[in-house]
Amino acid sequence: MHNVDISKGIQVGGFRFSVDTSESSRKHLDADRDLGQCDFDNHTIQINNKIDSIHQSKVFIHEVIEAVNQIYCDGEIPHPNIQRLSYGLHQVLEDLGVRFGK
Ligand SMILES: [Zn+2]
Repeated sequence: MHNVDISKGIQVGGFRFSVDTSESSRKHLDADRDLGQCDFDNHTIQINNKIDSIHQSKVFIHEVIEAVNQIYCDGEIPHPNIQRLSYGLHQVLEDLGVRFGK
């Protein structure tokens, strides 16, 4: 498995997003009963570190698609489709041996 380091953040269009998998991030996400969030105001992707690496990679892909949707698609992709796209991309990338983590 090739682990791609996401801890230094990512670039989506003209925007730099930080990726936060810290304990404080986990507490915030647990309070919202969430595994991940994409905050467009602060350009931060949060991923709940309580889940294992394969699921963190899936959540990361989901939040990247959320960011791409906002920046490139004016937020027009309905959420169920974001979910399906992230499942599909995650499956293909896992099959290729690519996993996102830190
Ligand atoms: Zn979502």
